[in-house]
Amino acid sequence: MTLVSMKEMLTEAKQAGYAVGQYNINNLEFISAFLRVAQEEKSPMIIAASDRMVDFLGGFKNIAAMVKTLYNALDITVPVALHLDHGQSVIRCKQAMDAGFTSVMIDGSHYPIEKNINMTKEVADYANSRGVSVEAEVGTVGGQEDGLAGSVQYADVKECIRLVEETKIDALAAALGSVHGPYKGEPKLGFEQMKEISERTQVPLVLHGGTGIPTHHIQRAITLGHAKINVNTENIQAWTKAVRNKLAEDENVYEPRLILSPAIEAVETSVKEKIREFGTSGKASQAVAK
Ligand SMILES: [Zn+2]
Repeated sequence: MTLVSMKEMLTEAKQAGYAVGQYNINNLEFISAFLRVAQEEKSPMIIAASDRMVDFLGGFKNIAAMVKTLYNALDITVPVALHLDHGQSVIRCKQAMDAGFTSVMIDGSHYPIEKNINMTKEVADYANSRGVSVEAEVGTVGGQEDGLAGSVQYADVKECIRLVEETKIDALAAALGSVHGPYKGEPKLGFEQMKEISERTQVPLVLHGGTGIPTHHIQRAITLGHAKINVNTENIQAWTKAVRNKLAEDENVYEPRLILSPAIEAVETSVKEKIREFGTSGKASQAVAK
């Protein structure tokens, strides 16, 4: 098998009432950790590179090569999509697709809706002929987005409907109170708008900033049409904590492999918990195109 788009896995998840997690790459070891857990849990998975991390990770081609090579080397058989998270421009999305990404997010959410629709449509047209799935965003997720700190701005229902109808995207990130990074206090998710946007657009919804949202809110968001949930903060917090502990308990350690092994295990544990929380365990065969 090769990497797949996220179209079938999200359509199936929305119908059956579970969500597929998106897990962000921070270095090579994150990729193998994600793939091992996906296989172990028999779960479909979306592995993503955030646009702002692409250069740090060696560029689009390097990222695609790492994920594809590890996918084969580890004998992975579950469906995995390689996704560009928060693609900053049409050209960046095209570069990702040309390099072998099977899914892209074009984030025109900080532009007026007209420009957002035009950008999204150009990416969707390019993606359609290549079998690549497309996610777009309306509204503003709180916290850090594209390196810009922003306050929460709820997605407008009419703008969501327009964007989906005019661009034929596969997934919609409608910002409804979630935040990138840790939450200050309890998140206030817009469940009513969620229901209306899901019913009127019919498209699978994406929840950005999945870390720190209580499980019962996650479950409700899934019931109301969310089929993709993005997780990064939780994984990198677990990674950092494990590195810090290792260095603190053994002041003579200097070999990166020994320092990073507990961190990789911590990421695996964190992702496994998310897969189970989102209901994705054992769903690998359902997520394949029929
Ligand atoms: Zn996001």
